[in-house]
This record gives sequence, C-alpha cells and structure tokens, in this order.
Amino acid sequence: MAPEETAARLDTIAARVGALADDVRQGSAAARDLDEVAAMLARVKLDLFGPKRRAARGAGAKVKIRDFLLAHVDEVVTGAELKAIGGIQEWARRVRELRVEDGYDIVEVGDSAYRLRSAVPNRERAEQWALANTISNLPGSARSRIERYLEATVGTVVTRKQIDLVAKIAEGSRRVRELRDEHGWPILSHVDDPTLAPGEYRLLSTDPADRRDASQRMYPEDLRHRVFVRDAYTCQICRRDRAKAEAAGDLRFYLEVHHKVAIADDLSDVPVAARHDMDNLITLCHSDHLRESAALQERKRRARGA
Ligand SMILES: [Zn+2]
Repeated sequence: MAPEETAARLDTIAARVGALADDVRQGSAAARDLDEVAAMLARVKLDLFGPKRRAARGAGAKVKIRDFLLAHVDEVVTGAELKAIGGIQEWARRVRELRVEDGYDIVEVGDSAYRLRSAVPNRERAEQWALANTISNLPGSARSRIERYLEATVGTVVTRKQIDLVAKIAEGSRRVRELRDEHGWPILSHVDDPTLAPGEYRLLSTDPADRRDASQRMYPEDLRHRVFVRDAYTCQICRRDRAKAEAAGDLRFYLEVHHKVAIADDLSDVPVAARHDMDNLITLCHSDHLRESAALQERKRRARGA
C-alpha cells in the first residue's frame, strides 16, 4: 500500500472518529459504529503488515481457522485474514460451523471482521444453535417458530441472532416483544434483569398462570427500566430480587410495575403524564402484584356493597 493511500485511509478513519464523537455527545452512537472503526483499523494494519501468524500447516480449514482465532482471542480479525487461512470457499462456512456446531462465541464486528470472545466453547450454546437451525426449517409463520423455540428453551438465555435465525427475518426481536406485550408471555430482557445483555431474552414459564398482568403494556420499556433501576430490581413488598428468588428455588420470579395509589379502573382512560408519574410507580414481583390487584378489587367490591 502506497504511503499516500495509507494516509488517506487513516484520514477517513480520523474523520469517522470525529463524527462518532459528535454522535456520542448527542447520545446516538451505537457500539457497532465503534466496531466498524475497529474493523477499518484492522484492515489498514493487515494491508501494512500482512496477516497475523498462521496456524499449524496440514490441518483442515476449520481447524486452521479455529486455531487462528484461538491465538487471537478478543482481537479483531478480518475476513481477509480468515480467507487467507481457510481458503476462498471455506472460511465463512467454517466460521459459522465453529459458532453453531462447536459453540464458540464469535461475534461479527462491523463489515467482515470478527472477534472470538472466549477460548472456551459453550456446549449449551452449540445445542441452542442446532435447535434454532432445526426449528428454522419447520413450516408455519415466523411467530409460530419463535414460540416453539422459546418453549423449547424455557428458562435459558437465548439471543436475538438465534431468534432471527428461527424467524428467518431480521426483526425477530419485534415478534418477541409482541409475545410479551400483547400476549403476556413472561419473557425477560435486559430491562427486567440486569444479568441479561441487550439482545438476550429468557422465557421464564409456559404456564398460563405466569402470564404478565395486561396493564404492563401501558408502561413503555424505558419507564419500566427506570422504575426497576430506582428500586434496585427488588420487589417492594417481599424485598426479593431475582437472585434471591432463584436461590430460594422460585424460578418464575419476575418484576412488574404497579401504581401505589390506584388511579383508575382502566389505565387507558388516564392521561399519559399521570399514568407515567414515577412517584406513584413501584416495583413488585408478579406474584405480589397479583395479590395486590386481587386485594384492591376486593376493597372496591366491599365499598360498592357498603
Ligand atoms: Zn414480591
């Protein structure tokens, strides 16, 4: 690469970082923008200094690519490097196999660059991917396949990428939100459970008794998140959080938002500002919320009768 070309590419990257700084100030920058810059820098380095040290000769393409990634855990490697190691037809498919069949946590960063996040493959993860792959080939609607997948993995963490594979559409996570908000499935995301990363979900239970309270759809995700964070993800009646509940064997524990002082029989009649008043919102676990709502109905019934 000619020095002028290198300089021009570094200028492009510097301009991109400058624009990103503006995005950060406005709060619109995403992690994938930074990943793209990392991938751009990795490609400049590749052109200047050549590929990273190769894996041992004589092994198959998949083993070579695996050993190469294992030698560079948590570093950005480019598709061009993997292609040089695995061969033109082989590399993308082998990366997918390492991820899906062997359970290696390989993430895409930006355009055609990758990072292996851990040297230890995850057996459970590999099985989940295999299951997702199987279900993706079943007939029926995207939503029916997502339902099957979540039911088959109940209790465990699944990722947006797996759901997209099952749904065969890029917006699989939107269907998951529909199942949660419109059909009340108790599906946790990072909003409800601080141990989940964005893009991770967990269906807690398939029992209809564990469906979410219908009023929960009236609270937008960011509002629920603020209430849960303020209350340290802890039910304000029983003082349990998810970790405590799980330790005590209650795997169906999850959080809901509740009005301390009831403001109407039907929340949809209430102006949004009153409905979303943080001072009147409180975090309860699903079972205490059920009890609280039943007690309120009972008090109202008696008031009417008196
Ligand atoms: Zn509780």
